[in-house]
Amino acid sequence: MAKYVTIQVARRETPPAPQAPGEHCKKCNASLAAGELERALRVCPHCSYHYPLPAHERIAQLADKGSVGFIAEEVQAVDPLDFVDVKTYPERLSTAKFETGLSEAFLAALCDISGVPAALGVLDFRFLGGSMGSVVGERFHRLARAAVEERRPLVVVAGSGGARMQEGLFSLMQMAKTVVAVQMLATARLPYVAILTHPTTGGVFASFATIADVIMAEPGAVMSFAGARIIEQTTREKLPPGFGSSESQLTHGQVDMVVDRRQLRERLALCLSFLMGGQTGG
Ligand SMILES: [Zn+2]
Repeated sequence: MAKYVTIQVARRETPPAPQAPGEHCKKCNASLAAGELERALRVCPHCSYHYPLPAHERIAQLADKGSVGFIAEEVQAVDPLDFVDVKTYPERLSTAKFETGLSEAFLAALCDISGVPAALGVLDFRFLGGSMGSVVGERFHRLARAAVEERRPLVVVAGSGGARMQEGLFSLMQMAKTVVAVQMLATARLPYVAILTHPTTGGVFASFATIADVIMAEPGAVMSFAGARIIEQTTREKLPPGFGSSESQLTHGQVDMVVDRRQLRERLALCLSFLMGGQTGG
């Protein structure tokens, strides 16, 4: 029952859903006690498989308790093309809002990360495939502007199928818009750290996700502009095993480090503290 057709690249295997308590790991089949996965930040304690993470959980994992203030929530999608596939775009938006409890695919917040003030943006793949439409671009831009105004580093957690097809060209324009936002940070000599999660593809991979000062990736994530199947069909060449994985991108220099989610907050805080000139992390 594929509800969304928002991915502009190859259709890929859907990541397994997070486990209900007391079930088995969908990757290694190990038995999981009730609440075990949640306590382990939704990483399987047996095989280290990283389950998809809702945006609010991601923010709760990275930000200091009580430090989070959301911004740009008022920026909401419109339907500039009156787009209809089997459903209208407004119908798809309301379903996504209802099912995820989110106002859009991108949450923007000012917060502290282990004592370091930061501007944090998180894409949620559950909301129309984490696709980048006008709202994602505008919220990203406002977050970057807030970072510059308050002299904070920008941290963005990406997880997206790419551009949002229901907004057509408006969606593609967000690639340029987010890149310009990142340039504002660079001009202000403020660092930008991107964290790539499974999957980060299409227009998001080809814009803000891969132009950060430091690019971190979660283990086992797939990240590439186009999917392996599409590339193979286009070039008629067989791609090497593991193409587009975090580990392969690390080997080829596209990402700077692959970080287990259980060490991510600590590693990120250290990185931000270093880049901000020695502010003390908590
Ligand atoms: Zn497992």
